[in-house]
Amino acid sequence: MNISKLYHTLTNQISDKVRHLFLASFIVLMMHMFVYIHVQGLDTALTEITFLNVGQGDSIYVTAPNGNSILIDGGQDNNLARTELGNIKSFFDSKIDVILGTHPDADHIGGISKIMKRYKTSMYLDPGFPSNTDVYKNLMSDIKSENIPYRILRRGMRIVLDEAHNVSLKVLYPSEEYVLERYTACVEKNNLKKSKRKENCKKYFSVDTNDMSVVLQLEYKENKVLLTGDASVSVENFLVTEYGRDLKSDVLKLGHHGSKTSSGEEFLKSVYPEFAIVSAGFKNRYGHPHKEVLDRVLKFTKARVLRTDTSGEHVTLTLDGTHVSK
Ligand SMILES: [Zn+2]
Repeated sequence: MNISKLYHTLTNQISDKVRHLFLASFIVLMMHMFVYIHVQGLDTALTEITFLNVGQGDSIYVTAPNGNSILIDGGQDNNLARTELGNIKSFFDSKIDVILGTHPDADHIGGISKIMKRYKTSMYLDPGFPSNTDVYKNLMSDIKSENIPYRILRRGMRIVLDEAHNVSLKVLYPSEEYVLERYTACVEKNNLKKSKRKENCKKYFSVDTNDMSVVLQLEYKENKVLLTGDASVSVENFLVTEYGRDLKSDVLKLGHHGSKTSSGEEFLKSVYPEFAIVSAGFKNRYGHPHKEVLDRVLKFTKARVLRTDTSGEHVTLTLDGTHVSK
C-alpha cells in the first residue's frame, strides 16, 4: 500500500466515523425534539374541569386549551366560590369568559354576583325561568346594570369554548317542548286568569325549580363530562329516552348533590361514568349524598366516587381528549 492509498483509506475511515457520529447525534437530537414537541403538544392541549369546594352547592370551573373559561354555577351567597376561584386562578387572571346559572336556586346562583365583581365576564347564560327570590332578582339586576349580555339556553344549542381544539358544551335540556308545554302555558294562563291558576303556577315553580336545570355535556374529542344541575330522575329518564347511548360520559356530576331524587338506575347505566362527583357540604342537613345513591353508583357503574364534602377540597380532573385523569 502506497502512501497516497493509505491516506485515502484513513480519511475514508475517519469520515465514515464522523458521518456515523453525526448521524447518531442527529437521530438523538430528533428523538429529543420529538419528545419535546410531543410533551409540549400535550401540555398545551388540556381541558381542565374543577368542581369547587363551595360547601352545600355547585360551582364548576372549566378551562379549554386556548385559555377560554366558563363557570357553571357559583355556589351560595357567600365568598366560598370566589375564594376557591382565587385559589386555582392566577392573581393576574381577572376574567371568566362565560358564567352560567343552571337554575335559580340560591345554592347555585347565590355567589355569582360576588364573582362578577372580581372577574370580568362577557356573557351570562341560564334556562330563562324567572324566580321570585331576592337572590335571583338581585343577580338579574346586577347583570343588567353591568351591561353583561344575557342569553337563554335551550336544547340543541352549543357553547363553543375552543373551536380549534373542539371543546364545547352541548345543551341537552331544557327542551323547547318542555318550556312551551309547562312554563309558557302556565304563565299565559296566569295572565288570563288570576286566582287558582296563579296558585297552581306558583306551586309548580316552587316545586320544580330543580327540573329547570340546564343539562350540559362537555365534549373534548373523545372525552365527555355530564352536568345535570339538580335535575331529578324524571328529567334523567327524558334524557335516556332522547339521547340513549350518547349520554355515555367519562365523568358524571351526580345530580342534586347526590340526593336520592336523582341518579336513577337507567340513567347511571346509560352514562356509565369512570368518575362520579359529589358536590355537597360536609355533614349537610339534607344528608347528601344519600346512601341509596352511592349504593346505586356502586351497583350499576364502576365509577370512582370523588367528593368535595369528605375531602374538604375541590376536585380537578384533566382531559387530554382521550383520557381523563385526576
Ligand atoms: Zn342544589
